Amino acid sequence: MMDRCLECNGTLKADESACFMCGSARKPKIQKPSMVVRCATVVKVLFILSGVLTVASLFFSVTPSFLKCLATTIILMFVNRSADAMAEKQRT
Ligand SMILES: [Zn+2]
Repeated sequence: MMDRCLECNGTLKADESACFMCGSARKPKIQKPSMVVRCATVVKVLFILSGVLTVASLFFSVTPSFLKCLATTIILMFVNRSADAMAEKQRT
């Protein structure tokens, strides 16, 4: 389905974020997952991995030291929380 530009009534392709004719931004209707949402997902995965590594470091010596893992996990937890909050704000 073709969208119409609000400014000049020109047609907009589905993958165009701005009007080809007049350059005005299209109205935000269907948004792809933004950078923030993607970053939040990456951070979440890293956080889980870091948490697993922290637990593993208690039992195995091949992993980085427990304190290093714990510090990384805590930092990622805070980053994860703020990234989640930002992603949530964008969704609404
Ligand atoms: Zn236009």
